[in-house]
Amino acid sequence: MNTNAFALRHIGPREEDQNSMLKTLGVDSLDQLIYETIPDDIRLKNGLHLDEPMTEHEYLHHIHELSKKNKAYTTYIGLGYHPTILPAVIQRNILENPGWYTAYTPYQAEIAQGRLEALLNFQTMVIDLTGMEIANASLLDESTAAAEAMSLLFAVRDRNQKKTGVNKFFVSENILPQTLSLLETRATPIGIALVVGNENTFDFSSDFFGAILQYPGKNGQITDIKSFINKANDSQIKVAVAADLLSLVKLEAPGKFGADVVIGTTQRFGIPMGYGGPHAAFFATKQAYKRDLPGRIIGVTKDANGNRALRMALQTREQHIKRDKATSNICTAQVLLAVMASMYAVYHGSKGLKFIANKVHNKASKLAEVLKELGFEQINTSFFDTLQIKTDAKKIRKIAKDKKINLYYPDSKTVTISINETTSIKDINYLISIFAKAAKKETIVISAIEDVNNIQKSIQRTSSFLTLDVFNTYHSETELMRYIKSLERKDLSLNHSMISLGSCTMKLNAASEMLPLSWFKWGNIHPFVPLKQAKGYLKILKKLEDQLTEITGFAATSLQPNSGAQGEFAGLMVIKAYHESRGEHHRNICLIPSSAHGTNPASAVMAGMKVVVTKSTAEGNIDVEDLREKAILHKNNLSCLMVTYPSTHGVYESAIKEITKLIHDNGGQVYMDGANMNAQVGLTNPGNIGADVCHLNLHKTFAIPHGGGGPGVGPICVAKQLVPFLPGNPIVKTGGKEAITAISAAPFGSALACLISYGYIKMLGAEGLTESTKIAILNANYIKNRLEGNFDTLYSGERGRAAHEMIVDCRPFKANGIEVTDIAKRLMDYGFHAPTVSFPVAGTLMIEPTESESKAEIDRFCDAMISIKKEIDKTSKDDNNNVLKNAPHTLDMVTKDEWHFPYSREEAAFPLNYVKDNKFWPSVRRVDDAYGDRNLICSCIPVEAYVEV
Ligand SMILES: *Cc1c(COP(=O)(O)O)cnc(C)c1O
Repeated sequence: MNTNAFALRHIGPREEDQNSMLKTLGVDSLDQLIYETIPDDIRLKNGLHLDEPMTEHEYLHHIHELSKKNKAYTTYIGLGYHPTILPAVIQRNILENPGWYTAYTPYQAEIAQGRLEALLNFQTMVIDLTGMEIANASLLDESTAAAEAMSLLFAVRDRNQKKTGVNKFFVSENILPQTLSLLETRATPIGIALVVGNENTFDFSSDFFGAILQYPGKNGQITDIKSFINKANDSQIKVAVAADLLSLVKLEAPGKFGADVVIGTTQRFGIPMGYGGPHAAFFATKQAYKRDLPGRIIGVTKDANGNRALRMALQTREQHIKRDKATSNICTAQVLLAVMASMYAVYHGSKGLKFIANKVHNKASKLAEVLKELGFEQINTSFFDTLQIKTDAKKIRKIAKDKKINLYYPDSKTVTISINETTSIKDINYLISIFAKAAKKETIVISAIEDVNNIQKSIQRTSSFLTLDVFNTYHSETELMRYIKSLERKDLSLNHSMISLGSCTMKLNAASEMLPLSWFKWGNIHPFVPLKQAKGYLKILKKLEDQLTEITGFAATSLQPNSGAQGEFAGLMVIKAYHESRGEHHRNICLIPSSAHGTNPASAVMAGMKVVVTKSTAEGNIDVEDLREKAILHKNNLSCLMVTYPSTHGVYESAIKEITKLIHDNGGQVYMDGANMNAQVGLTNPGNIGADVCHLNLHKTFAIPHGGGGPGVGPICVAKQLVPFLPGNPIVKTGGKEAITAISAAPFGSALACLISYGYIKMLGAEGLTESTKIAILNANYIKNRLEGNFDTLYSGERGRAAHEMIVDCRPFKANGIEVTDIAKRLMDYGFHAPTVSFPVAGTLMIEPTESESKAEIDRFCDAMISIKKEIDKTSKDDNNNVLKNAPHTLDMVTKDEWHFPYSREEAAFPLNYVKDNKFWPSVRRVDDAYGDRNLICSCIPVEAYVEV
């Protein structure tokens, strides 16, 4: 046996454990269990065809060799992406630290106060720099954020009677090309008409509900947003500003001029370009729109002791509640990157940011001056970091290319140069020499850079920012290292214990998969470089597409979507384009079973479809008769069905082939939500089941860590007839022959994160992947078996087996006054993160162990659950003072001199022996959600400000 095989490291249970677990389940072999679990007629006959697996050592060598195929030229392309300096203390302690990258979205606030604080810092940083009232804790990329801004302004237009029914949205021609493409993608399906033009000649008297400006513009010229916003306000046109965050250090905050929304990327705050992502976008707006804000907002509240505590605010906005009334489908965002960007601001503070911004501006100014001296025409009259030169672009391009320099060439007579944080005087001299050569002149050598200001007076920044303590305390490495550690210690991540969140697939994120993300030749590639410089990337991206195409049984893959929900939207838009290509523009009905994830209906509405909900049976399956009725009723307008497989109830529905056929027979396409792909890989696949398109959550099934709520990658895989419509990009040619417009800003979405899934597949190979699926099913069924008699599993397959996850019913405990939340909070005292609470069925827990958890860990989890059940048995309906209702118990509480509870301190904090070895202390008592929503505070303001209203 090759004991270095990666599968042995990735998969938890050892062979003898597997045998004993199978014995517990009463089956002879793993194959017998799989036979009892997955319907025969959907099983793959020939397995997967993938490369032979590599060991970790082999893989690291392989990925290092591939990295050499990327040419990290010095890059001044700009357009929303810049070389940056990631402080090593942030790289080592966050990006490379499983304590940060393996955490989940902070739904369980009591064991997530660390990242909640980092995200509150992020929001504060954004609020300060943009001058707005509230901000969210990140979006997927700048262009998506711009589209969300447009959607928000569209959604709120009806609150202004004069704008009811108005559907025109003005887009500055100075917007980034990728943003324009995304605005087009999102505008058309919901009936927004985009009008692209020059903001200086905009006619304010015509009827628009909103406008978006780029600040500074794509070619570097700073537009006078102040007078535009003034006039727009007079005409009741709402204005969104896409702003460069670093430039806001020198430019007055758009909020000061009355902007309604400010969006942009925080990539410049120390995040590697990574060939396009992942990076965190920001979204800031006015209080008045707090309920319309897409994504997650972190808010301040208090815990059961009245102490300050943080949690995600206004959860009623989430798609699970709003479903087809939701205006956005954002679920996974870019939390890890937001945390990193916030730490960049914490580390540099306002002084540091000013130094960096001045450095950039002064160098750009100096370059402009010297180029003028050499006789070049630089036409930006007011700029931050980007020069626009009118010259023979072809000539410059040739010289620059020979010197391994990337500039940007918008047309044959224009060259733009974006200066960044890494640019040195030497680099400036090198740039000058290129232009001198083109002009056939002696070069000019500079040796010093002076302080200058080339920004028009009326919009120079006068307001202060980052004045709070947190941004003025941790400026030495020791201090920042300890601050990061102090936050990390408050958060429960996979490096503490199993996180059995159903539907989220919290499996191992192997160190070998993660290591290359820190490497210069993967991090330092701009998404718009000539393809020849990105050969390493193109190779792994193509290969990953092929691997995913094989695994899903489809014809092609697009890696663009930055999350599962974006994949849903992309897939539906591809289906729409397909119908339209056949002249069937009217097909707009999307059937969605009632048990679907909330992002499904939200995505369908964004794609301009009408949602028709279909029923589930008592067994949790799709009610086929109801579906048939509705498919036939709508057959002339049927666009598609969205179906999750195995179902969100954790069952492989045996009728699935009948279901997909039914939809096809009535003219529709089948969209499969691939969030549960961990129950399919190697054993069955969407193609085989009869679907036409599915998204995959690479951050679930394919080992990208959840990062505390992102990054995600949500590629779509499609059947042959849909291949021509895969999404494109306006700058780099990607996608199908009749590509729909962009789904994400970068041509390949979050390319850097794709390395992880590539490595995962490369190291497991066909056999390891298939084995993983089988063990995921074994682990789930083992838990089901161990909990029997204490917790009822709600749904099972025809032969009584669960899939890779199961729903346990906690509703019967209401008779004892115990809610599912009490169990979730009590699990924290046992050192565990709760499984998924109340999805897809209210009052239940959905448990998904994944293949990576060992038998020992699963046994501890089951012991905890069974022990909690015993505790529940001791409670009664009117008893509000028990170990469950008071959970979680903090260190502060347990070590206080007074102790008024009817149980012992030991019972509270160390309910089982194993807990003593590795105690995790929740840092706050139970948080008060309602209070926080009533008193929404989403930035770190001084403590005195928390007075009850
Ligand atoms: C996670 C999940 C999604 C959404 O995926 P994101 O990557 O968070 O956008 C959609 N459907 C199901 C069933 C899921 O579990």
